[in-house]
Amino acid sequence: MAGPEAIDVTVLKGVGDKLAQRLARLGIHNLQDLLFHLPIRYEDRTRIMPIGQLHVGDAGVVEGEVVSSDVVTGRRRSLQVTLRDNTGFLALRFFHFSAAQQRQLVPGARVRCYGEVRPGRAGLELYHPEYQVNPGPLPTGDQATLTPVYPLTEGVQQPRMRELCRQALAMLDRHPIREWLPASLLQNYQLPEINDALRTLHAPPVSADTTALLEYRHPARHRLVMEELLAHHLSLLKIRAQVQSWQALPLLPGQASLEQQFRDSLAFKLTGAQERVSREIRQDLTQPLPMLRLVQGDVGSGKTVVAALAALQAIEAGTQVALMAPTEILAEQHYLSFREWLAPLGLTPGWLSGKTRSRQRQEVLAGLASGEVPMVIGTHALFQEDVVFQRLALVIIDEQHRFGVHQRLALKQKGASEATVPHQLIMTATPIPRTLAMSAYADLDTSVIDELPPGRQPIETIALPGSRRDEVVERVRRACAEGRQAYWVCTLIEESEAMQCQAAEDTAARLRIELEELRVGLVHGRMKASEKAEVMGAFKDGNLDLLVATTVIEVGVDVPAASLIIIENPERLGLAQLHQLRGRVGRGNRDSYCVLLYNPPLSDNGKARLKVLRESQDGFEIAQRDLEIRGPGEVLGTRQTGLMNFRIADWERDQQWLEEVRGMAPEVMREPERVDALIRRWLGDRIRYGDV
Ligand code: ADP
Ligand code: MG
Repeated sequence: MAGPEAIDVTVLKGVGDKLAQRLARLGIHNLQDLLFHLPIRYEDRTRIMPIGQLHVGDAGVVEGEVVSSDVVTGRRRSLQVTLRDNTGFLALRFFHFSAAQQRQLVPGARVRCYGEVRPGRAGLELYHPEYQVNPGPLPTGDQATLTPVYPLTEGVQQPRMRELCRQALAMLDRHPIREWLPASLLQNYQLPEINDALRTLHAPPVSADTTALLEYRHPARHRLVMEELLAHHLSLLKIRAQVQSWQALPLLPGQASLEQQFRDSLAFKLTGAQERVSREIRQDLTQPLPMLRLVQGDVGSGKTVVAALAALQAIEAGTQVALMAPTEILAEQHYLSFREWLAPLGLTPGWLSGKTRSRQRQEVLAGLASGEVPMVIGTHALFQEDVVFQRLALVIIDEQHRFGVHQRLALKQKGASEATVPHQLIMTATPIPRTLAMSAYADLDTSVIDELPPGRQPIETIALPGSRRDEVVERVRRACAEGRQAYWVCTLIEESEAMQCQAAEDTAARLRIELEELRVGLVHGRMKASEKAEVMGAFKDGNLDLLVATTVIEVGVDVPAASLIIIENPERLGLAQLHQLRGRVGRGNRDSYCVLLYNPPLSDNGKARLKVLRESQDGFEIAQRDLEIRGPGEVLGTRQTGLMNFRIADWERDQQWLEEVRGMAPEVMREPERVDALIRRWLGDRIRYGDV
């Protein structure tokens, strides 16, 4: 028999095309969707309240006889109906009313109504109550349930939504939802069966603890939250299993002479954390299974060197490496570093971006196809169809939060042969709190570089209102006079890149006048790659004092001599992003400063956020606080992954359950049918497997 997920809402009484379209706006297409559309609160309409005992703010049912009904005029015309029971009088007031209503609400009529008590000109009043004339008996026994209040959309009123859910609920007896959680799990975790849970949620008994129901502590709601979290977790595990069912080329380190030469050429020693993470990666790479490793490390923790060691292992094993970064600037910077690092080893990396000219591009493509080019660095352009590798064995992705699960799966096509898939190393400076990482990235192993190179100075951070801009300009003047370099970052909320760039251009023009004696450069997303590279190069070489930029410099840009950063309108950015931006300074061993030039007045929330940044340098702590203030979707940048859109669960509120959810997974996975059904139920076809 068809389950509710296979029954269209149009089978319900009263649902035509028009209503179906409106329901679709709430994501409701079938009966299961309707049943998963949970009430936001409940009303107790099972008891009649004596009018004489009502107080302002009470919400409930009253019943009485109409003693008068008058259209009154005043500031606003209204229908005023006076109701009496044997304890007192109460007015019902309607600002919008029809002739039919007027005919119904005549003296002598018995009326039962529901509303919230307010003070009005006729004493206590109910405004626009829901009402029934000549009501039947009140429900008793099992029939006496709380009345649900649902989230609505335009054109769907509360009584209508209630009626639809009631119909869907009634159909559950003949068309139950399939229970996909094993009975043993329900028992161990004390979760109610799914149909029972839904009945409770849509029509709770009067005795139910409504606070618990709404706070998601009630077993009925908890059960749905757990199932949804579990489904998402399983989908990631499934991706992992899928990738690991493929083969990878084991990269045996052999003599590791390239690595030794590289280490000898570095001006510094690796930190303990860098060594530890490198060992983990080295071990993964020797396996015939594809590595899937996420390296997290705060800004400036030195992830690039770790990536280089992995790349050398692959090159030494006679295979190729691709390094992808999300932005042109960052990719270019990696290209420049690697070119410098590889040159003494007699190796030359290739460069590919969306803007690479066709002749140059053809050359790189030929080199990759023949195997002559051992490593290629670039943007998403690396994964275009015509990029064919002779023997690709390792893909390094910088700043993974911009790189989705689908894209990771798609890498299979770039493997060294039909039968193998490249190892994947993903690096991110976006600190992800542990529990979140285990769930949100359950498809990856994680390593953390939890140590900064020695000698780093804390960045002193201050927040100033825009009215003190002149002082800030003076500060830049003095700093540069001392031989420091500085960034001035322009932010705009407008989505349009063009406007951002315009703002940066205007700012640069103004600063060039105000700071006449300084060499001011400008870099933004709309400049040609070569122009950007030139400006960045000049800044890096100390030929510019001040670099005006848009947030394009947010990730990864590395100029150790820069020690002052001004960020305009910081209130418009997330904490994690601000922390990233701020991390552009404090990379050398000079004392560094960050000035947050905000636009007053700040909201309390805005103040709290800037305070977090002033007080902490620790990316993980900042991420945790950011999570509390903004919610995980923002922290992880999930618009790119599309994974975190929950119907019922909520990352922030329900994080505490993630550990338990992980514990539940193995038991469900014993029966793959359950896994697939749960993923289908909660994620639909948002993730496609197998065909990639
Ligand atoms: P991130 O982790 O933010 O990508 P980078 O890899 O860009 O950091 O490294 C930041 C800076 O620190 C670079 O200038 C790099 O050369 C330097 N660095 C990396 N590791 C060390 C180390 N062990 N000791 C000193 N400096 C280091
Ligand atoms: Mg980096």
